[in-house]
Amino acid sequence: MPEINKSDNLECYFCSVAKYEAEGAEIIYENEHFLSVLDNYPAVPGHALVIPRQHLVNLIDVPKDIGIEAFDALQQAQSMIRDRSDDWLEDLKLFYENMVNSPRDEYQARLGRSALDKFAIFSDCTIDSFTVGINDGKLAGRTIDHLHFQVMPRFDGDGSKDSTFGVRRVFPDTASYKNVD
Ligand SMILES: [Zn+2]
Repeated sequence: MPEINKSDNLECYFCSVAKYEAEGAEIIYENEHFLSVLDNYPAVPGHALVIPRQHLVNLIDVPKDIGIEAFDALQQAQSMIRDRSDDWLEDLKLFYENMVNSPRDEYQARLGRSALDKFAIFSDCTIDSFTVGINDGKLAGRTIDHLHFQVMPRFDGDGSKDSTFGVRRVFPDTASYKNVD
């Protein structure tokens, strides 16, 4: 066991993913300190997460010498989503079909169905935009206290009603800083 895994948290879902013990987890890329996995509650088809193997909670906890591997895992996830090989798409579709056929809960069933509804558009479009982010703390919307970067492909028909000003829209009243058509 690598030294870095000493602080694994036995109760933590992402720690179980990192130890290959989480049922239904679909790892799409891994390097020494980070994993890219498919989100089990996809906001959009292709929605992926990048997590550290170690139980790190906040972005500021990431040792600087391994941070570069987070960028590697983010870029690899983006490449897979952007390129969408036939094999990858087949696995992804199966992943969502399994969600619908044997869901953990009603939310997963609904989100799996939503991903499948958009799957044809997702498969065929050009993807050159992503929303990438971290809900870095409870007040920022974090629900699992193990650092995770969200990687969400963006395309016409992705279901977002308005992406003007992007992540700034968590503050709807002050998101705008210029006129946008
Ligand atoms: Zn953890």
